[in-house]
Parts: sequence; structure tokens; C-alpha cells
Amino acid sequence: MNSRYALSLLCAAGLAGAVQAAPAASQAAPADAAAFSTCLSQLRGQALQQGVAAGTFDEYTRGLAPDMSVIASLDAQPEFKTPIWDYLAALVDDERIADGRQALQQWQAELARAQAQFGVDPATVVAVWGVESNFGKKLGGRPLLTSLSTLSCFGRRQSYFRGEFFATLKIIQQEHVRPERLNGSWAGAFGQTQFMPSTYLRLAVDFDGDGRRDLVDSVPDALASTANFLQRAGWKAGMPWGFEVALPAGLDTSGAGRRNKRPMSAWAAQGLKRADGGALPAGDLQAGLLLPAGPAGPAFLVTRNFDAVYSYNAAESYALAIAHLSDRLRGGGPFARAWPTDDPGLSRAERRELQSLLIARGFDIGQPDGLIGARTREALQSVQRQAGLAADGRAGLKSLQWLRDNAGQPSAGINAPPAN
Ligand code: CA
Repeated sequence: MNSRYALSLLCAAGLAGAVQAAPAASQAAPADAAAFSTCLSQLRGQALQQGVAAGTFDEYTRGLAPDMSVIASLDAQPEFKTPIWDYLAALVDDERIADGRQALQQWQAELARAQAQFGVDPATVVAVWGVESNFGKKLGGRPLLTSLSTLSCFGRRQSYFRGEFFATLKIIQQEHVRPERLNGSWAGAFGQTQFMPSTYLRLAVDFDGDGRRDLVDSVPDALASTANFLQRAGWKAGMPWGFEVALPAGLDTSGAGRRNKRPMSAWAAQGLKRADGGALPAGDLQAGLLLPAGPAGPAFLVTRNFDAVYSYNAAESYALAIAHLSDRLRGGGPFARAWPTDDPGLSRAERRELQSLLIARGFDIGQPDGLIGARTREALQSVQRQAGLAADGRAGLKSLQWLRDNAGQPSAGINAPPAN
């Protein structure tokens, strides 16, 4: 998704479990509407300087109204830091692995052609697709022109978002994309693989040969554009992203860090082995030691290809999710070492089960959609208090197990179910 705001979409989708789904577009206050109108007229000259035609600007900004809820998303602070095991449990679950293998089959020919042209293997490309939009099932529903014009006129990143706003107008102008096809996250990432508009202009490719670069309705275009992105970010064909390693007892981990790369031979000399017991690759392949949950959790040696994936979304947890999902799509197993917790995270299926059990107890939390929002969290806290668990509203295995064991019994206190 190639922006620092990318993770916010995952959060809004409830995957990271941190930020609530963004509220629906809200009517702007009169003062905001007036400021927006003044701002747009000031942006016009800047847009024209950057290659937006006057007619395009006028046609597609006429009637635009600001959506102040995107400013709330911009300023949203996560309620709590999502543990990496929760993040990975939802992003790399059996469902996504099965869907990804099906996608590998369905798009085999296009993925092979993309690999030949850009050097990125099919499993990596499909893993990005699966995490970014759940294989095209979650594209984001916010109109880009509305979100990006609002972010261009309000909030703390106006200069950045103006570039994306103008890029969106150029996409409409040059690529003849109807604005109603350009919907995405609150921050403007859109399409099957959630490119920002400026990234689209630089890196999107037409791969199905219809003469248009279409990341919304063409899966081949989207997959090849992702491969192109990763190649341009430094991906080297045939290099592994890295692998899980076993650390020798007493290893000084002060030299850990993705950027702190050393040759494999140096890591081998320190006693690191592959988690499956095998030796590290011989030679001078550069890798950094990644300890996402500290020395007590799974450890990884990661190469420049991991960095290429990182550049898609600027978060190590994100890059690890893509890397691990790609391994699972190739037939690999779960991590050898458990996360350092006695309360593991839940897959999306388990999250839905947990929500169904809450609903059966009478909690009004909407549909069991697997997205852990405010109402689910509040209901969970009530159950956790009853169960004698930490009442943090976190959807973990302990809470799910308690709900399973106590199914059919009503909850006491607030939010109690009706008596019938
Ligand atoms: Ca095309």
C-alpha cells in the first residue's frame, strides 16, 4: 500500500484490532465547508502547475464536500498496541492460506508471466494481494476524491495528501478512469493491491493488454503492478526473504535489527541455525536478525527481499505477515517457535466464533464478521470480568475457550440478555 498510513486500513478493518472502523462520512460544519471551498480554489493553481488540466480540476472538484471523518482517522491513536501474535493470527490463517492457494491456481499463467518479467515469485505476489484486499474482497469504500481533497485542506499532512489528490485527478484525466471506480481506504490506497495514486502513476502496469492500467477491475494488472513495485523496491529474483532461525543459548542480541545486516557466514559463526535444524546458506548473503517479540519469541534472518516487502507498507510486522504467508502458500508450516504468550491470537474464523458465542449470550454486537470493534471489545470485557480473566477486551484464545466452555449460560450484569 506503500504509505505510512497503510497499516491504518488493516486497523480499520479490525485485523490489527487497534482502531475502530472509520465512521461514515459526516456532514461538514459550515465553517469547515467554507474553509474547504477557499482551500480548493487555492489548490487549483498548484494542480494546474502539476499537470492537471483546468477542465479536469473544475469538473471533478465541483460539488465536492469535505468528509471530516478522514481527519478523525488521521488523528486516531490505537487504543492499545496490538501484539504481533494477534496481528499474524488474523492475517495468516487457514482461510487466507486456502484462498491464496486457490488464487495461485486460478492466476497461474499470469503469475508465471509476471515472474518472468519482474523476477518476483507467484507466492509473494499473491501474499501481498491476500493481505492488502483479501484477494479483492475488501477494496475500501471511500471515494478517493473526497478523502484526498479533505486531507489536502485539513489536518497535519496536507502537503503529502495534495500530491495524492492531484495524482488522483491525473488518473481520471490520463487513464480515463471514472471517479466512481476510485474508492479506497480513508488515506487513498485503492484497488486490488491498495496502491496510493502517486504509486499507481509511477508503477502500475497494463498486463492484460487492454491498453488500460486498471488496479480495480483487472487482477492481472494488479498482480503485475505489485511485482513491478517489488522489483523497483530492490527485490532480487531467487533470493529468499529469509527464514526462521534458532538462536544459540546466551547469544548477545544487541546486534539484532532488520537494517543491521551481516553475512550469513558471520551469523553461522555465532551459532545460528535454521529453525528446522539445517545449516545457514553458505556465503556472504547479507541478512539482519529480526526479533519481533524479543529474544524469547520466534527469530528470523531477513534479507534485502524482506526490505522490498517492507517498503510496501513500512512495518516489520506487515512484512513478516507477507513473508510468512508466502511460505505457507508454498507448503511451509507454522513457525517452529511459539510466541511468548500463554494466550495466543485468533484466526478470523475463531474471531467469528467468539462473536457468535457473545451474540448467543445476548450481547448486541452486530453480525459475527470477525472484525473486533468497540462493541465486541466491550462485550468481551464484561465476559472477561465474569470469567476472572484480564478485562482488556482483547480477543484471545483464553476468552474464546471460556466462552466455549460456558456456552448456553447467560452473562450477568450490564448487557445481560433478555430473560426469554
Ligand atoms: Ca489492463
